[in-house]
Amino acid sequence: MTSKIIKHERQAMKQEAGEELSEAGLSVPPMGTPLTDMFARSISYLRISLTDHCNLRCQYCTPQEGRIKLANEELLRYEEILRVVRLAVSLGIKKIRLTGGEPLVRREVLSFIKELAQIPGLNDIRLTTNGVLLADHAEALRDAGISKLNISLDTLIPERFQQITGVDAFAKVWAGISKARELGFNPIKLNIVALKGINDDEFIDFARLTLMEPLQIRFIEFMPIGASALWDKSKYISSQEIMELLKPLGPLAPVEAKRMDGPARVYRLAGAAGSVGFISPISHHFCDRCNRLRLTSEGRLRSCLLSDQETDLRGSLRSGASDEEIRALIIAAILSKPKGHTISPDSAGDCHGQMSRIGG
Ligand code: SAM
Repeated sequence: MTSKIIKHERQAMKQEAGEELSEAGLSVPPMGTPLTDMFARSISYLRISLTDHCNLRCQYCTPQEGRIKLANEELLRYEEILRVVRLAVSLGIKKIRLTGGEPLVRREVLSFIKELAQIPGLNDIRLTTNGVLLADHAEALRDAGISKLNISLDTLIPERFQQITGVDAFAKVWAGISKARELGFNPIKLNIVALKGINDDEFIDFARLTLMEPLQIRFIEFMPIGASALWDKSKYISSQEIMELLKPLGPLAPVEAKRMDGPARVYRLAGAAGSVGFISPISHHFCDRCNRLRLTSEGRLRSCLLSDQETDLRGSLRSGASDEEIRALIIAAILSKPKGHTISPDSAGDCHGQMSRIGG
């Protein structure tokens, strides 16, 4: 009986993915063909939320009350993630970022990364972390195959760190950054969510760090998403306004973007060892060059951070879908990638999901 139902579900699934492709006048492309969406964007980057659990409770990210964490069986299992990555890489995905939640709190994450790094054709695995557990894991991470890190840090003041994140862990994060520097991770990017009236008095100090340290400091515009208790329009500050605040440090010279660089517009202060980046999802949309696909912690494929349209891969993986069927679902998700997003300081647009599940 169960196997009949599964067979029926699989048939429906295969048909659905096939229909989406044929509606678009397409079939599963031969292996090695670049993945391209309906707006001629080449999709080569998969971001994976390994878990929705986090050891911080940042006010702008985590709902402060009533947060429901996923049960273990709801999380995509490591072997399921590895299968999706193998298939995605066979289709043309070249770069993976592990995020969350906090990826380093998931059990056995290092063994998982080692297996991930063995996937033929995948040479670029990156990690986004809040840094709390980084000092302990940095060496093992490097040995497992990660060389590029993004570390989130919104303040250089320990008491303020505790106010924003709910945890007294600034020293641990700072130790993690120092350890990563010592071990030669390159690049190390520090992500700062720009919060007017909360950390804007520190932007100069953050940018000044780049004079001596080869870090990329990246200011991210605060977005009205993720069930944030903190969001209100008055706390939003645009990249342009941040640049104005940095003027006392001298001119910012544009740095040429590299091929696999993200959405940041990057600049350098005269003589600086590092650089300053601006990620401006609100004031300066970068949808026309978005190359990303996301896998949420519960196994949904999401073609745009800021659109709730998702494809349930977990159901298909657990009901015996073939590799060909999973590939068809990946392609269908890419073909449904929206042209652009609709968030603004006045609206969360079509994004109501929890950031930690989607993977920021
Ligand atoms: N735990 C990891 C970390 O802290 O980097 C990864 C997950 S976290 C959700 C990823 C990034 O999303 C962080 O840099 C965080 O600051 C950013 N983020 C979360 N909510 C945001 C919001 N409402 N607006 C802008 N950035 C946000």
